[in-house]
Amino acid sequence: HRSEQVKKAPLTELMARAMRFYREQLKISPKAVDYLRARGLTGEIAAKFGLGYAPDGWQGLQQVFPEYNDNALIECGLVISNDQGRRYDRFRDRVMFPILDQRGNVIGFGGRVIGEGEPKYLNSPETPLFEKGRELYGLPQARKAIQEEDTVLVVEGYMDVVGLAQHGVDNVVATLGTAATDANVQKLLKLASRVVFCFDRDSAGDRAAWRAMEVSLAHLADNKTVEILQMPGNQDPDEFIRTQGKEAFIHYTRNATRLSEFLVRELVKQNPLVTAENRAKLVHDAKPLLQKIAAPILRIQIVKEIATRAQVSQTEVEAQCELKPLTRN
Ligand code: ATP
Ligand code: MN
Ligand code: MN
Ligand code: MN
Repeated sequence: HRSEQVKKAPLTELMARAMRFYREQLKISPKAVDYLRARGLTGEIAAKFGLGYAPDGWQGLQQVFPEYNDNALIECGLVISNDQGRRYDRFRDRVMFPILDQRGNVIGFGGRVIGEGEPKYLNSPETPLFEKGRELYGLPQARKAIQEEDTVLVVEGYMDVVGLAQHGVDNVVATLGTAATDANVQKLLKLASRVVFCFDRDSAGDRAAWRAMEVSLAHLADNKTVEILQMPGNQDPDEFIRTQGKEAFIHYTRNATRLSEFLVRELVKQNPLVTAENRAKLVHDAKPLLQKIAAPILRIQIVKEIATRAQVSQTEVEAQCELKPLTRN
């Protein structure tokens, strides 16, 4: 992929320069510093995550990019060109969260409005550097702690990663506002043998939890655990740790639901087992999920659970669900 690297290198350099600019701007923008302080963040954590501030102007980046009219700035998503060919900064008056790849190169940004405003977060578009579904926010900063604890927590937002790190919970990454993808889950399962997805308890969080389960089933191995943790009330992990502290948060993560239990519980919720029809439909609904499971022994365990609840034999579940034998893990 040599030719690809040659093309990407100049864009990577532009992104690094932009990050440095936003960092400098933060230092001279009391309003942005106050915002981060009010959210409980110290300068040390802001530095660790390279947080910055995009000034409130249409061509702020011109200060660092005399080559403002180069298409490269458009290509890396920092500058937008309108219908009349006028160019302006994508990110204005926002707190900036740089998104780094595994090697620590800046490949994108998320920008949050200060206070209220729409959209709350503005993200870099897909670019030659930035493929959203592949990246995990916070990975370079979290890698060591993930290894040490052999556990990775997956949260929804930038502020959850940074807020947890502020309180000393470092083994945390975020999917970038999207549902977990196959690429995300494969990477997560390589990083640690325990993956805990933490979701807000709202309809978006519930959908994301279901999706994380579906994707995880396809990539699980029998020596790995995936768990789903629904946050209590309407707090997200950042709000939880700010109000209740690190110990309470760590303690709460022990309540996470194993994937197998989550799967059975959700299916039973959809099909209360009081009728023969629902017990039949339970097996019917389990079929596409069971078919996905890549971990052979875990699949047997879940089949047994379903069979018990449906009041049929394990063999009947396997036959009805057309489960192919899985021999290798
Ligand atoms: P904050 O604590 O700053 O309000 P949050 O992380 O709690 O932010 P959520 O509303 O829970 O925000 O959203 C979770 C994630 O989804 C965000 O971190 C962001 O990546 C993404 N997101 C939220 N709103 C938007 C939006 N309007 N456009 C794009 N992405 C968004
Ligand atoms: Mn939410
Ligand atoms: Mn939040
Ligand atoms: Mn949130």
